[in-house]
Amino acid sequence: MHYSINETHNPNLKSWVESANTPDTDFPIQNLPFGLFQPLGSTASPRIGVAIGNYILDLSQCSQLGLFQELPEAVQMACTAPTLNPLMAQGQKATSALRTCLSRLLQADEPSSPPNPSLLISMAEAELLVPAHIGDYTDFYASIFHATNVGKLFRPDNPLLPNYKYVPIAYHGRASSIRPSGTSIQRPKGQRKAPDETAPNFGPCRLLDYELEVGWFIGAANELGRAIAIDQAEEHIFGLCLVNDWSARDIQAWEYQPLGPFLAKNFATTLSPWVVTLDALAPFRCAAFQRPESDPQPLPYLTLSSDAQTSGIDITVEAWLQSAQMREQSIEPIRLSQTSFQYMYWTLAQMVTHHTSNGCNLQPGDLMASGTVSGPEAGSLGSLIEITQRGAQPISLPTGEERSFLQDGDEVILRGFCQKQGYARVGFGECRGIVQPSIDEV
Ligand code: MN
Repeated sequence: MHYSINETHNPNLKSWVESANTPDTDFPIQNLPFGLFQPLGSTASPRIGVAIGNYILDLSQCSQLGLFQELPEAVQMACTAPTLNPLMAQGQKATSALRTCLSRLLQADEPSSPPNPSLLISMAEAELLVPAHIGDYTDFYASIFHATNVGKLFRPDNPLLPNYKYVPIAYHGRASSIRPSGTSIQRPKGQRKAPDETAPNFGPCRLLDYELEVGWFIGAANELGRAIAIDQAEEHIFGLCLVNDWSARDIQAWEYQPLGPFLAKNFATTLSPWVVTLDALAPFRCAAFQRPESDPQPLPYLTLSSDAQTSGIDITVEAWLQSAQMREQSIEPIRLSQTSFQYMYWTLAQMVTHHTSNGCNLQPGDLMASGTVSGPEAGSLGSLIEITQRGAQPISLPTGEERSFLQDGDEVILRGFCQKQGYARVGFGECRGIVQPSIDEV
């Protein structure tokens, strides 16, 4: 394992940024996730920052003030870029060294770094952007529970296809429609054909859904033609975020065969703005999903030579919903699901290695996502199509409204965090989006 527990994970560390020391913050000094921000109303270039409590530490300014002088010149330069890609390209060792430097800089009792509040911007006064230029986006299908649940609805007699336990299944998504948390989602239009209709018609999606997913950004690239071995795969991951893969189920059901998702998925994808590094997640590693004995073992190129006990990550992920009526009546969002990333059938390393196994080249800033994170129990299902059995069992909201799928005005909120005795809680922040009506053109 390339990520070990070190001084940056010490639960006793406190920061001179007071809001980072409250027990329920997502961004204590032990987290230090990277993001891209712009002061509200500013037309200046975006800058790289690190979340600390309710503030953002401006890495561009830190670098220009010479606070990173112990780091290689290339890393100092990358911190002043208007996107995270150059820093991602520096690779995992550089990111780890920067993390140690940031941890020391933000510590309350660090004598060499007196508090310098001018390096901080309040999160409330900043716009958080998509953190990197995303060249390519791939969405996996790594929860066997989700794959089985959805497979049953689409193909009752043949839910799980025979390749599932051998191939980490994915489709190539669309990077251009990825947006940061807080962006409104316009209800897509498309071809829909209900099972009892003889021909499709065109109109606004009637079965709009969310998918609760974990995403990760690629750091160091691999050359075209050179696969990444499974034992090196995690060195190519810069960090993780939350992803909402908005899905139009009626469009999907009609279009998906034989080549997979297309317009049912590419109208919008929402990201949480902070990228939590694998370094920050080191205390929360756990065993990978235990395959039943009757399942095949992964092929050798997907088998880790060691570390099988730490190739999973226990990240609690949640989906919440607030309708327009709930908002008007000041009723808090309700939780639709809570589950853990440790239930995934394929590990991060297996997905990265499989992606490059044919020689496909990954580039800094490429985004991958896990597919819907669903667990084995009720309450752990990461999409409405699973929760409501494709609308057959609607859920009730505190206003008396019912939901089979998303209505205009509904806001979906994804949250994620890691908690473990003896360590500081590490959070992912939020991934939000409100559904807006279709527009009338077309
Ligand atoms: Mn998905």
